[in-house]
This record gives sequence, C-alpha cells and structure tokens, in this order.
Amino acid sequence: MNVLVLNAGSSSLKFEVIRTDQDRIAADSDERIAGGVIDRIGGEALIQLEAAGKPAKKSAAPIRDHRAAVETALRWLGDEETGAGFRGIDAVGHRVVHGGEKFTRSVLIDDSIIAEIEDMIDLAPLHNPHNLKGIRAVRDVLGRDVPQAAVFDTAFHQTLPDRAYLYAIPYSLYRRHKVRRYGFHGTSHRYVAYRYRRLTGTNREDTRLITLHLGNGCSACAIIGGDSQDTSMGFTPLEGLVMGTRSGDLDPAILDYVAEKEGMNLHEVEALLNKQSGLLGISGLTNDMRELLAEAREHDDRRARLAIEIFCYRARKYIGSYLAGMGGADAVVFTGGIGENAADIRVRITDGLQWMGMEIDTAANARMSGGAEGRISTDDSRLHAWVIPTDEELLIARDTTRLVLGLEPRY
Ligand code: ADP
Repeated sequence: MNVLVLNAGSSSLKFEVIRTDQDRIAADSDERIAGGVIDRIGGEALIQLEAAGKPAKKSAAPIRDHRAAVETALRWLGDEETGAGFRGIDAVGHRVVHGGEKFTRSVLIDDSIIAEIEDMIDLAPLHNPHNLKGIRAVRDVLGRDVPQAAVFDTAFHQTLPDRAYLYAIPYSLYRRHKVRRYGFHGTSHRYVAYRYRRLTGTNREDTRLITLHLGNGCSACAIIGGDSQDTSMGFTPLEGLVMGTRSGDLDPAILDYVAEKEGMNLHEVEALLNKQSGLLGISGLTNDMRELLAEAREHDDRRARLAIEIFCYRARKYIGSYLAGMGGADAVVFTGGIGENAADIRVRITDGLQWMGMEIDTAANARMSGGAEGRISTDDSRLHAWVIPTDEELLIARDTTRLVLGLEPRY
C-alpha cells in the first residue's frame, strides 16, 4: 500500500510517500519512495523535493494555498522525468496536533471526524485549522474514495493517570472547559519507545523509559509498559522543557506582571513566551542549538553558554522527577534534532546522573549523530542512555495502513 503522509502547518506542507503493508511492518522493511517540503505557502513558495535514489531538487514558485500545495506535490510525484514517476496513492495519513480527550487512537477520517477536529480548534488554534486544510485539500484533489487517517499528537498521552493530567486549579475548570495536560509529540515518543523495544528485544510490558524529544519543540515523556504516564508539555506545547523559542515552565504570575510592566495584553505576553523565549530569549542570538554551541565554543559568548546551561539543567530536572515518579527506569532515550545530533548536550544533560547508575560511553556518544542509532551508556550502567532517531512519518503510514485494512493501530 502506498501511503502519502502529510504534515500541514500554517504556511508549510511536509509530505512523504511510504510503501508499507502488514508484512513490511512485521519485517521493518517499509520503503520510502519520495518526499518533500513546501514552505511559504501563500506567497512565493520554496519547494524541496526528493525521490529515493535521485538528487534533491529545490525550486521556487507561487503557491496560493494548501490545496495548490497538495496539487504541486502530487503532480511532482507523478512526473516520470523529474519526480518519482509515481502514481497510485492508496491512502493518506495526516498528522493532526490536537485530538482532545476524544481521540485516544488514530482514526479513519469521515465527515463526523472532520467536525470533531473542527470542534477542537479552540484547544489548538495554531495547529488544527491547518491540519484540516490538508485533509480538505486531499479530498478536493484525490476525491473521497481515497481513505484518509488522522494521527493525533495528543493520542499517545491519553493514558496519563488523572494525577498527572490534572492541574491543581479548581476542578470545575477541567469539567467546564477541559483545562488539563494533553501533551504533544505523542507520535515521536511512541515511535522511539517502540523502536527501543525492537532494538533491545524487550516486551512492551517490561519497559520503563524516559524519552526526550529535543528539537525546536522539546518534551519529555515517562513511559511504563508502552503507555505514556507523564509528559512535560501541557494544555499547550508551551509547558515543560526549555525550547527553541518557547519558555517552558514558569510562574504563571509572570504573565500579568510582564503585561503591566511592558504595556502588553495577555495575548501578546503569550506570544512572547511562545516565540521570543527559550534558547532565543536567553541568548538574544538564535533558537538554533547548533549556532549556540558554535557561539559558545568560538566566541565564549556568555549568554549562549547560559542558554545551553539552562536548557540542559531543565532537561536533567525532568529526568530526575520522572525517575522519582516512576520509581526508576531502564533507559533515557534521546531523539529530535538536538537529541539525535548534539553529543555535547547529551553529556551535559546526563552529567550528574552517575549516582543513578548512568555512565556515558564517550566514544559511543560521540559517534551517535546524523541518523545513527544505538546505546551510548556503558555495558554495566544501571540506567542506560540511547539515541534513537524519531520517525513520526513511519508511524503515521503504518497506522493509516492498519486502519485501511480494518485493523487497530498498534500502540
Ligand atoms: P523540529 O522540532 O522543528 O522538527 P528538529 O528536530 O529538526 O526540529 O531540531 C532542530 C534543532 O536541532 C535545532 O536547534 C538544531 O540546531 C538542532 N540540531 C540539528 N543538528 C544539530 C547538531 N549537529 N548539533 C546540535 N544541534 C543540532
């Protein structure tokens, strides 16, 4: 089955075609056929396309909206000369950010599901409307006969116990407005937990993991027996770890204080916490960890060093709190652009966990970047550390395939 995986953002469309079926899933031999990114939809768009075994192509063209972006992607996929020379999308899987409390699993999309995703726009005004644009664009271009599935970022965390998802605020706010921790990056945490079990040959029930997704957005997750038990992002993706431009945890009283002092409204303060904070806010330089590491190394920039230090300290605190919450773990798994590539950051985060029995193997850690996968702790560590590159697209393709075949997605 050829599954088109779509991730529609406010002005971007990422896509990938993955060939998969039950046998390929069992043998881990799913095949990536082609993929690309269309950025700056609504203006002169940047288009990057790559078919397996062919050189990547970059171009620019005006692209009006998501529908036109989906058309562009499909046209290129079908083009013998320049693209993948590929026709026949059997199904489409969408990344959908917010599934609220309603969606605990991936689902096939029909009119009622679309209405429910619409109902959740209040909870995720920055994301769900764009995900819906992707779904509608595919219906327009490919027709209703091509099945589509929604894979929610929040679904994996619906196993959180109430002690982890409820905030200590009046319970009526949960009852009336569903104010609670939802958690995000669920497909990524779920993928690396699955992959860890494959790599170590352990059973789902027998694993206790702390997964750290460190990319532009960052989150930690405590997973027992394959189920998410706690996670650092909350009602929105703003809570938790320090991120590229998001603050993560802070005292909520800061909002009102800053609003008054800076003459801003709450909406503007929230935007500041989402877009001007985190690594960017502390360093005053950039949200890009690679650039910060270079600034710290080459110019000994004080605020770049500070940003890195705060980032790592916060991540270490989360590991500590989840170890306490879970009563120990087998391993900490690093993923995401920073987690997969930045050996220095992994050392700084884990430094100080030796007392918990974690010893990093310096050579193994240094080797782990650019898509490499493996253990970075010494053989006799009591608490292991792993690097496992995430692959949300693969899980989306597999969930879609299983749903189309009438099977339950595997969690
Ligand atoms: P997103 O969350 O948008 O998917 P990524 O997972 O690609 O983002 O992560 C982007 C982050 O990863 C950036 O901060 C980038 O600097 C960082 N990163 C990528 N490669 C490296 C590297 N070799 N060393 C340090 N940081 C890296």
